[in-house]
Amino acid sequence: MYKENTMALKVVKFGGSSLADAEHFKQVASIIKADKDRRYVVPSAPGKRFSGDEKVTDMLYACYNAVRAGENIDELYGKICDRYNSIIEGLGLDFDISGELNYVKNTILGGHSGRDYAASRGEYLNGLILAKYLGFDFIDAENVIYFKDDGTFDAELTRQELSSELDRHEYAVIPGFYGIMPNGTIKTFSRGGSDITGSIVAGAADATLYENWTDVSGFMTADPRIVTDPVSIRTVTYHELRELSYMGATVLHDESIFPVRAASIPINIKNTNDPAAPGTMIVETTTDYDKDRIITGIAGKCGFSVITIEAERMNTTIGFSRRVLEVLEDFNINVEHIPTGIDTMGVVVRTEELEGCREKLFNSLNRAVKPNMLTIEDGLALIAVVGRGMVNAKGTAARVFDAVSSADINIRMIDQGSSELNIILGVDEDHYKDTIRAIYNEFYGK
Ligand code: ASP
Repeated sequence: MYKENTMALKVVKFGGSSLADAEHFKQVASIIKADKDRRYVVPSAPGKRFSGDEKVTDMLYACYNAVRAGENIDELYGKICDRYNSIIEGLGLDFDISGELNYVKNTILGGHSGRDYAASRGEYLNGLILAKYLGFDFIDAENVIYFKDDGTFDAELTRQELSSELDRHEYAVIPGFYGIMPNGTIKTFSRGGSDITGSIVAGAADATLYENWTDVSGFMTADPRIVTDPVSIRTVTYHELRELSYMGATVLHDESIFPVRAASIPINIKNTNDPAAPGTMIVETTTDYDKDRIITGIAGKCGFSVITIEAERMNTTIGFSRRVLEVLEDFNINVEHIPTGIDTMGVVVRTEELEGCREKLFNSLNRAVKPNMLTIEDGLALIAVVGRGMVNAKGTAARVFDAVSSADINIRMIDQGSSELNIILGVDEDHYKDTIRAIYNEFYGK
């Protein structure tokens, strides 16, 4: 099939929960068929059908581990076969996948193909079924997604090979999550990596839109486990999304932003179970923001520690901060934030990074900068209030601080990026949820 010169072209990625069983496959097919511009489809492996169910990818990892431990995998692999067979049966498809299933089992049993090979077969097999069901061509990711010797993604080679391969197919399924190493072995991206494949395909196809279909209607303005029924985000910039994702808002794999961002392709997060919902649109820039919604989203994380250093005349001591940061670098500790005063410097780090080196670090800092006071306090939660609307709205910071203090919560740290895109607050972990609720109610409460 050769591609015509059409204008709109959409790459659609479906997550594991969207392809967990035959019913979901039908729903996915009806979404794809509803729009002829949805030409390239990137599937995940079958995910959980209900809470407590197992993801096929996890079962494949378990098979690999079992083979290494010299255990029998018949029962476990049988469960994987059942998942695929019940999808094929439920769809009424005339497709015999038993040869493929046997081949994969024997290859895993052979023990030379590696862990990533085993994991990748979830997407591969699902892709075969989906291509058959849709009547689309199947492009094996091992022929178009390349990694370099050092294990990093080879963007250049992939773009070249993938674009010319896509040109040969009007409609195709390309399984997510994996590609090939120069030595011919299969390699996967990190978990959730089908999002990355989708983005790569969208970039190579010069798509007009990358639709990422999942089981929620996009990004929420706050974590629904903390705020009841939060409003969903209609439009978010890549920049805002980086801030929100970094602070814990997860719907999309972090790395999946780069290939589409470079090509200015927007991403639309959509809900397979509610296709009519607009979802969240992720774009490069927008001037469009709802004036009542100055804040795009609120996200946060617990588990931070703050190292506070006090030293007389710190502000006039040249090289003070550098020496502090050098010590942290020597310990291979990542610095998250550096709130500073005239004679004090705070360094916020993840508490887990201090594990096993707390005392040595303390002593090294003492030696390096001879402070008047040095403390390391744990139990800090960071909350990011993110919004491109903040630049144009006076008094946003005041509203944030007022809301938090009205909830009787003490703010231990404040950091505002110079781009005015976010305000970061540090509070005691005990107040983490209440702080998010207080800010949410201030900006979104009725
Ligand atoms: N199936 C893989 C995982 O569970 C990749 C993906 O779903 O994106 O991580």
